[in-house]
Amino acid sequence: MTTARPPIAMLAELTHRCPLSCPYCSNPIEMARQETELATQDWARVFAEAADLGVLQLHLSGGEPATRRDLETLVRAAREAGLYTNLITSGIGLTERRLDALDQAGLDHVQLSLQGTTPEMADEIGGYRGGFKRKMQVAEWIGAIGFPLTLNAVLHRRNLHQLPRAIEMAVEMGARRIEVATVQFHGWALKNRDALMPTREQAAEATRIVQEARLRLKGTLVIDYVPADYHSDYPKRCMGGWGSTGLNVTPDGQVLPCHAAQTIPHLSFDNVRDKPLSEIWYEGAAFNAYRGTDWMPEPCASCERKTVDFGGCRCQAMALAGDPAATDPVCIKSPHHVDLQARAEAHAAADGAALVYRAAPGKAPEPAE
Ligand code: SF4
Ligand code: SF4
Repeated sequence: MTTARPPIAMLAELTHRCPLSCPYCSNPIEMARQETELATQDWARVFAEAADLGVLQLHLSGGEPATRRDLETLVRAAREAGLYTNLITSGIGLTERRLDALDQAGLDHVQLSLQGTTPEMADEIGGYRGGFKRKMQVAEWIGAIGFPLTLNAVLHRRNLHQLPRAIEMAVEMGARRIEVATVQFHGWALKNRDALMPTREQAAEATRIVQEARLRLKGTLVIDYVPADYHSDYPKRCMGGWGSTGLNVTPDGQVLPCHAAQTIPHLSFDNVRDKPLSEIWYEGAAFNAYRGTDWMPEPCASCERKTVDFGGCRCQAMALAGDPAATDPVCIKSPHHVDLQARAEAHAAADGAALVYRAAPGKAPEPAE
């Protein structure tokens, strides 16, 4: 028997294909190819299993989920299973007709990513010429249909000065919420730390801007904020705690406790093609590896914050300390903390570093000039 509670949310990575090539993409370096993706009926079964397991919210993500031609069918299947559906999209590949069809299928919410607040910035970061213009058109259609909208702005050294404008744009678009996420260094972002690491001053200024805007826009716009953790003293509560509130399903059906879990080499992951989702959630070795607090070494084991942040991010501990069970090096109590802060300063000072674009499977990146 296990004491784990059911998950609340599931992220379905429908595909790794994407027309954009953001250098901070959280998709793994080894992306799943189209021919290995789960078929429509597989996803429909997984959505029904997720609802039976207790999942309430389904986030349809990618890659770019609109590259799946069966997206409308998948939304309908999820709604029939009783799930609240949120589409996480760059907007590229969505037409007015397609958005209408998604509305008819029962889509509940749209989360639109923002690579920058000007065409020059957005197209350079997304590696897709004309992307910003198309995204603004999609935002208008979303507003006209009346989908509840969240804007998702990923910020880093190159575009943090655009944060005030990003917040203004969210208000102008009628968004209910903006997620201001300082880039997290997983997946492709790890290759781009020299180009993207914010300075300590930028990180502090972003926190100030968010605090001021939260007061000013109370009742108009909710601002979720993910600060620059390399410059922080305590780690974030990653995934609400490992195997605690959410799960990710990759395009080829692997079930992960978080989107970067495949970077931990000793873990193996069950697949929805082989086992029911509830068995994977409750009994799967990967989910039980760092669930709760029993696995923690010192200093986390005797720390008063251990049920606040659950020792931080396991994937970050792997990437930065070489040990997924270590205290997240972001934490001031970690023996790696001082070294991490020095490395953050060095990355932030690496002027002139070129962006390394993510290439979609089977497709070369399309960098803007
Ligand atoms: S390349 Fe950009 S838009 Fe595409 S999945 Fe990655 S982060 Fe999202
Ligand atoms: S020692 Fe561990 S539990 Fe305590 S604050 Fe740091 S990461 Fe969190």
